Amino acid sequence: MSSNYTIPQEHGILVVFSGPSGAGKGTILKRYFEDNPPAVLSVSATTRPPRPGEVDGVHYHFVTRAEFERMIAENGVLEYNVYNGNYYGSPRGPIEEELRKGHDVILEIETNGAGHIRRMFPSALSIFVLPPTFEELKKRLIGRGTESPEEIQARLEKGRKEIEMALDYDYIVVNDQVETAACRLAEIIRSARWSKKFNQSFIQEVLNNA
Ligand code: 5GP
Repeated sequence: MSSNYTIPQEHGILVVFSGPSGAGKGTILKRYFEDNPPAVLSVSATTRPPRPGEVDGVHYHFVTRAEFERMIAENGVLEYNVYNGNYYGSPRGPIEEELRKGHDVILEIETNGAGHIRRMFPSALSIFVLPPTFEELKKRLIGRGTESPEEIQARLEKGRKEIEMALDYDYIVVNDQVETAACRLAEIIRSARWSKKFNQSFIQEVLNNA
């Protein structure tokens, strides 16, 4: 057998990417996608209003509550959750289509949604982003200056609870430096192609022909 054998890949990997507010998920992903073009980021739907600079269809699909509830009723979301009083969900159609094309799809979602995905798709890969220290997280949240002191406090408290959930994920990415963190993410996704949970049907196929 040739030494550069690769497993025939039937579909892309579904990657769940979570982490507390301020951990740098968005920045890491931006860097990751620059070097890994066939991978796609799922654009979530949300009922929260756009922040300055956010573009409909790019950062989120901004929808009304009625529209979101219709999506739920029509089985149009792979998972959804209510976060800070707003619905957030991952639209099913585009995700399934990209996976079928063999592209990896990354869902940047909070920990409840991630739990749903893990239960529904055991072959999904789950990755949690951590700051190097909790103090650093605090510094970054204060530094970005987009939230009031009360909101920062609330996000830190939520962040602490979210970090406890890191234990349920397959991997962690420590974000001490964006470039390094994006490389770590790439290494994890590359090695996932060889993980047993992503290759059940291949193992079975070899056995079927034994
Ligand atoms: P933000 O309002 O700051 O953009 O997002 C708030 C939280 O919602 C973040 O933790 C983000 O990862 C999460 N989130 C964004 N899209 C989705 C989604 O489609 N489903 C779930 N469950 N969470 C999401």
